[in-house]
Amino acid sequence: MSDSFIDNYKEQGARKKLIEYLKTERNITDEPVLQAMLKVPRHYFFAKTFWNQAYKDIAFPIGEGQTISQPFTVAYQSQLLNVKNGDKILEIGTGSGYQTCILLELGAEVYTIERIVNIYERTKNVLPKLGYNAHFICGDGSKGLYEHAPYDKILVTAGAPFIPDVLLKQLKRGGLLVIPVGDPNKQQMTTILKITDTEFEKITLDTFRFVPLVGDQAW
Ligand code: SAM
Repeated sequence: MSDSFIDNYKEQGARKKLIEYLKTERNITDEPVLQAMLKVPRHYFFAKTFWNQAYKDIAFPIGEGQTISQPFTVAYQSQLLNVKNGDKILEIGTGSGYQTCILLELGAEVYTIERIVNIYERTKNVLPKLGYNAHFICGDGSKGLYEHAPYDKILVTAGAPFIPDVLLKQLKRGGLLVIPVGDPNKQQMTTILKITDTEFEKITLDTFRFVPLVGDQAW
């Protein structure tokens, strides 16, 4: 195993502390989510010089003006998704692939789409080396991914100006969309449960700040 994929005692300890913090200070109560985050070595998504940043509860640059999401945000969105073993999930905004790994640890089949070619190539290359296998797609996820629809869950990991209708169409009945919606500076985490093809239940939750969702049905 190469130097960049070593899970030292020090990193394991820091990871444990972060998970404990999410549980006790940030009200993340979903045990499978906490266990998944305990398992995935977040420092693998950082250059070795920045390993000391990997278990702080902060977002961090991954190049191309994008970020690996803050651990709390990943935990929060994962908890909302209520992932069941075998769920077919569309993730919009692959980024570093850290969130993808959490979904895979929770037993989902993940289709993940990223619009920036360099990020897509890098993550598609790294994740299988860590033993994580998702379906990687490069393109504009604001239009969803029609070819593999319908999905049990859709997770958007970038800030959207509105809820794209097309994403609701690509959900199964009983399916759930989790999407941050708002202006470029702050978005409300929003969940939409698809009850029937014409009936939806929308819940608006806490405020976050994501990088923008850029595309046809976005900024
Ligand atoms: N969850 C990711 C992680 O753990 O690293 C972080 C995702 S980052 C906050 C958001 C990502 O969404 C960026 O990589 C960005 O390029 C991507 N993105 C923005 N608009 C997109 C779109 N229309 N389709 C696909 N990806 C998009």
